Amino acid sequence: MSQSAREKAIERLREIGREIYLLSHVNALLGWDQETYMPRAAVEERAEQLSVLEGMIHDRITSEELGELLELLGAEAGNPGGSSDLLPVDRALVRHVYRHYTRQTRIPGDLVRAIARQVGVSQQVWAEARKASDFSRFRPELETMMELTTRKAEALGYKQHPYDALVDEFEPEMTTARLTDLFDSLGDRLSSLLDRISAVPQVENDFLFRTFPEDRQRAFSRSVISELGYCFDRGRLDQSTHPFTTSLGADDVRITNRYLENFFNAGIFGSIHEAGHGLYELGFGEEIRGNLLADGTSLGIHESQSRFWENMVGRSRSFWEYYLPRARSHFPGVIDDIDLERWYRGINRVEPSLIRVEADEVTYSLHIVLRFRLETALLSGDLQVGDLPEAWREQSSSLLGVVPESDADGVLQDIHWSMGAVGYFPTYALGNLYAAQFRSALLRDYPGLDSMIASGDFKPVLKWLRQKIHRHGSALTPGELCRQVTGGGLSADFFIDYLEDKYGEIYRLNAD
Ligand code: ZN
Repeated sequence: MSQSAREKAIERLREIGREIYLLSHVNALLGWDQETYMPRAAVEERAEQLSVLEGMIHDRITSEELGELLELLGAEAGNPGGSSDLLPVDRALVRHVYRHYTRQTRIPGDLVRAIARQVGVSQQVWAEARKASDFSRFRPELETMMELTTRKAEALGYKQHPYDALVDEFEPEMTTARLTDLFDSLGDRLSSLLDRISAVPQVENDFLFRTFPEDRQRAFSRSVISELGYCFDRGRLDQSTHPFTTSLGADDVRITNRYLENFFNAGIFGSIHEAGHGLYELGFGEEIRGNLLADGTSLGIHESQSRFWENMVGRSRSFWEYYLPRARSHFPGVIDDIDLERWYRGINRVEPSLIRVEADEVTYSLHIVLRFRLETALLSGDLQVGDLPEAWREQSSSLLGVVPESDADGVLQDIHWSMGAVGYFPTYALGNLYAAQFRSALLRDYPGLDSMIASGDFKPVLKWLRQKIHRHGSALTPGELCRQVTGGGLSADFFIDYLEDKYGEIYRLNAD
């Protein structure tokens, strides 16, 4: 192809990409409004508005014109970036668009519509079944959803395991075999750390359940996240039932949170978590600004940014060396009697529990290992939907040492399966693994990280993250990013070592 034809094709691809980018942000604005300020009565028309917009986005990403452009540019299965004459940033864009185009065109229209219908039904039945704590009510809907999900995996295609096709949507290039390796070592070593923690005296944290007025929590959250680098000229912090982060534009990345007056952790750590997501989205580089590459490269990498700030910074001793005096003045008289040591140990208390979203840093990933094992077994046909509650109890007992007495506290606790989001859960644990591996690379560059944090100097950390991770957006795949930043492929060792160090000290596991 001539150079000018290629230039015209890439120009047109950028144009279509830009439209998709803008439409997605309009879609996100409607979604943000729905979760924050929309009057309740508007719900039906809003659903219609969203579905029209999603249809417009889908039409563009699956259009014949886009298929022809990708072909013209030389994108194909063995060479998704297309012609080697293209600029690297354009090759990255072609690869990104090719990935979405092929994924979305492989799923037949009638299957897309069947899944969308089933999501509506399943979600409602799931909510009722959870309320009644009765899995048998949800079972037929989940069976249908799993059948459709299997059809989707078959349509997408895979090399080894149908689950590969599903997890790839959320974590490009990740495979079931790789996850099994990572999660087996994670499961074994975390269970054994948990056993050791459970054998020694528990740390106290009752002071976290005193009264922390909501407006003061909000003010404290705002001041903390703005010091971390979240810029209120390019974002907002609002309230919603479930905290989330959403991009409405290159300079408009909003976060939401909720506050519990009688539990300190939920508010502040929720805010730091979402700010971590926000900082990622606000950190995309000039090179990719305003195009489809200005997006998180995977959910696992996205989650690594939120968990790095929330847990590895926000739950560190040095962080509270700086912030505890400030927290005391935000909540006058509430925690004056708690010294740094009690505070630090309290906010990091480890306790095996039934509910994933309430889990601490050590047990959280075990909840994910459990779900991963059940999802893959369902997909391979080794487990039937009807046997799920029992399989859940077995895994919960062996991984966490606790067994749910009700379906609501067990197999019905998460919304994901009712939405057909199979393959999503692993990204939460992958976030922890990436975060720890990135942290160890950061420590190589900044051995004095702790004293920087203790003095409230977060700028070098953010600068490092922007330079190494954020600016690339989706121009690098998660695997490429991990190797470029850390010098190696993803491993569970960094996270496990980090937890063993931290909690070994908190629980004095190595003391004589
Ligand atoms: Zn998150």
